[in-house]
Amino acid sequence: MLPFKLVYSNDYYLPIGAHVFPAEKYRMIHQRLLETGIADPGDFVTPQPASDEDVLLVHTREYVQKLKMGTLSVEEEMQMEVPYSPGLVKAFWLAAGGSILAADLALRQGMALNIGGGFHHAFPDHGEGFCVVHDVAVAIKRMHQEGRLRRAMVVDLDVHNGNGTAAIFPPRTRVGHPLPSASASRRDVHGPNLEEHPVEGELEVFTISLHQAHNYPLHKPPSSIDVHLPDAEYLGWLDQSLSSAFRHFSPELICYLAGADPYKEDQLGGLALTIEGLKKRDELVMRVAQTHKVPVMVTYAGGYARRVEDTVTIHCNTVIAAKEVCEKTYR
Ligand SMILES: [Zn+2]
Repeated sequence: MLPFKLVYSNDYYLPIGAHVFPAEKYRMIHQRLLETGIADPGDFVTPQPASDEDVLLVHTREYVQKLKMGTLSVEEEMQMEVPYSPGLVKAFWLAAGGSILAADLALRQGMALNIGGGFHHAFPDHGEGFCVVHDVAVAIKRMHQEGRLRRAMVVDLDVHNGNGTAAIFPPRTRVGHPLPSASASRRDVHGPNLEEHPVEGELEVFTISLHQAHNYPLHKPPSSIDVHLPDAEYLGWLDQSLSSAFRHFSPELICYLAGADPYKEDQLGGLALTIEGLKKRDELVMRVAQTHKVPVMVTYAGGYARRVEDTVTIHCNTVIAAKEVCEKTYR
């Protein structure tokens, strides 16, 4: 029995036909976790689809209407890069429901993984890059609406920049380059909104994105901390980014997007991480969260390894990393 829940549904499968996005990965991860004994059936909980009201916390009424009525333009569908169907919309509403449940469980129990989600290229008024609904943003906004969350930190380690996240939650404070910042003095923080103090009860979201510079999306709206990674000095940069982030921001929840696409064999990525390196990455994020006693909700985001089995291994390792970190803490 795992010390946390895994949120999963067979209906996470995206009906997109032959596509570089391995829609079958969710089912394969579920199967592998059970077959290898990493998880047992009692570790899984089934999500309900998000309500339209939940999706509207992030997305415009016009966009939601287009998705529900099937009235996207050809250009809008092309920008989404996945073929539109009512089934696709259903799957994305379910992924958002899964992330809401994962956030809810993480806030109550300290850790929860959504075996899906992480659709960080979705914008309020359109979809992009295989992402239709920004499930993580929906989950954050829903927890805030319930009065359970005011400060969230998004740690996005997908190889692609989290442009949707940055557009939905533009940074209040930008932590300046170069990292590592030598001190936590206010001099190394700059940005137009530095002196702007949050209104009581207002949602604050701090976003970290470690991604490859020369890759999709072309236009990368600024996150609070952006690291355009040149190579495999990844773990060092991640460590520095996390410590810098925690000097500037005390989150009540970490939303970790554990993308499998920084992997060296990824078809849409250009970084050089090994499977072992990616597991160390997961451990690092979770160890830092445990050290600061911050709950973590995980979503999976991208993963386009030449062999889909590698993507499955990387995603399963995130569960193992979470288990190992939890057990070390409880001992
Ligand atoms: Zn990606």
